[in-house]
Amino acid sequence: MFQIKKNNLETAGTGPYLASVVKESIVDGPGLRMVLFTQGCPHRCPGCHNPSTHVRYGGRYYAEEDLLHMYLENGALMGLTFSGGEPFLQGEVLAHLAKTLKARAPQANIVTYTGYSLEYLEGAIEEKRPQAADYKALLNQTDLLIDGPFIMAKRTLDLAFRGSSNQRLLALTKEGQKLLALAQAVEKTAD
Ligand code: SF4
Repeated sequence: MFQIKKNNLETAGTGPYLASVVKESIVDGPGLRMVLFTQGCPHRCPGCHNPSTHVRYGGRYYAEEDLLHMYLENGALMGLTFSGGEPFLQGEVLAHLAKTLKARAPQANIVTYTGYSLEYLEGAIEEKRPQAADYKALLNQTDLLIDGPFIMAKRTLDLAFRGSSNQRLLALTKEGQKLLALAQAVEKTAD
């Protein structure tokens, strides 16, 4: 009988393609977070810090169960961040991971970065464009959205968790409002 090995990252099943995983970060959203840097990004922002994530068919496959195991073995984590790359390219896969994580660790919250604006994503869903299912699924699992491309002319070091002043922190849930308040407190402390 086929058996899934716990730490075998090549295990068959549902999972995202990632450029890398950071098990602990305090710079990719409020609190101590695990971060998944997704592979593939169509935005090509000049000055992007993660150009190796741009190619759609690169990175490597990570089984959902292995990522869950990585997260759950660290009791100090506040939540999971999806960064990029462009997470919404793999929206349904990441949404499934987020939903499963929240079922197993109800205190876990989700921060998602995107180079799209929230209005673009909502418009695409409304118009039932080809990626609408991915966009809708991941928005539904996201507590705090950090939206917009990195714009070099608007680059700043003064904002928490963002690289340029056009990027917004958008609370999509009650939990997201708490995360937003934490992010705003970080910014005030840095003033
Ligand atoms: S959206 Fe992010 S990962 Fe994609 S090109 Fe822009 S800065 Fe780089």
